[in-house]
Amino acid sequence: MGKMSENTLQCRICRSYLVEEIGTVGVKPISVTSDSKLIEKESVVFICGQCGHIQKFHDAQTAGIIADNYSSYDIYHLSNGSEQVVFPTDSSSKTRTQLVFEKIIGYIPERGNLLDIGSGNGAVLKTASQMLGGWKLFSYDVVDRFKEEILKITNVISFSSTSLETIPFAEYDLITLWHSLEHMESPLDTFERLQRYFHDSTNILIQVPDVIRNPFDLAIIDHVSHFSKDSLLGLLSAKGFIMVLDGSEWVHNCATLFLKYEGSGWCPGLTRDVGPIKLELSDTLLWIRRVLLEMDDLIRGRKFGIFGMGLSSL
Ligand SMILES: [Zn+2]
Repeated sequence: MGKMSENTLQCRICRSYLVEEIGTVGVKPISVTSDSKLIEKESVVFICGQCGHIQKFHDAQTAGIIADNYSSYDIYHLSNGSEQVVFPTDSSSKTRTQLVFEKIIGYIPERGNLLDIGSGNGAVLKTASQMLGGWKLFSYDVVDRFKEEILKITNVISFSSTSLETIPFAEYDLITLWHSLEHMESPLDTFERLQRYFHDSTNILIQVPDVIRNPFDLAIIDHVSHFSKDSLLGLLSAKGFIMVLDGSEWVHNCATLFLKYEGSGWCPGLTRDVGPIKLELSDTLLWIRRVLLEMDDLIRGRKFGIFGMGLSSL
């Protein structure tokens, strides 16, 4: 790449123009989409010189491919649409959303309004429908492909699309962003536009891939933000939230945070010492390249199988 003029790129988190290209992921111009399709475009990784946010920017052609893919998005097609299952050491298998809802259920009221931003095929809403009987559920997604399926879920009141302003006005007690923040053009903008729906004890539940524990996430072309627990918490604290539960241990390769709106800390600025983050990111890109080259050496000309086929192994 490099064709894209860097000084016009604006950080998705702090709006600084100090965005710098670090390098490309892997050894070939190939990436994977978050619904596990391979595309012949390289993933180029950038870092913000002000807040250290790791992110991607796409040229018009790649952005077009991603937009087309969202309209025919094939969630979990490797598992026929079922949500990934996790295997906590203390109990039998369950889905990621079931596990996390079990953890937070003691911290939320018995009834309330839940707003799910980026519902996809309704993984969060299906679990909420089973586990939060007294709650009214509201859904939002940029595409309406799963609208009918979502509206059939018990206790789902509405489905909105196109813009956040079309969500029915209510005070929401729990807002969920489940694997959606990493896809957004501007997470900062999203929080500012959602603020009208917060009240002084609104809870927010967020899960995103953790780039530190799963650096292969960098190769997922439509993940345009790459968070760690710290960077996610930085963004949320700047927007007036305080952490109630740190769910890092609940799902091993994701950052999961349960927070509460305090309303007082609404400030725009986020600055960090970016040097170490930049170095670590360059090292990570080198490490990914080395892993791929070693694997290429091992399997050259031979048939091979990968045990545990998910996005990372793709
Ligand atoms: Zn920034």
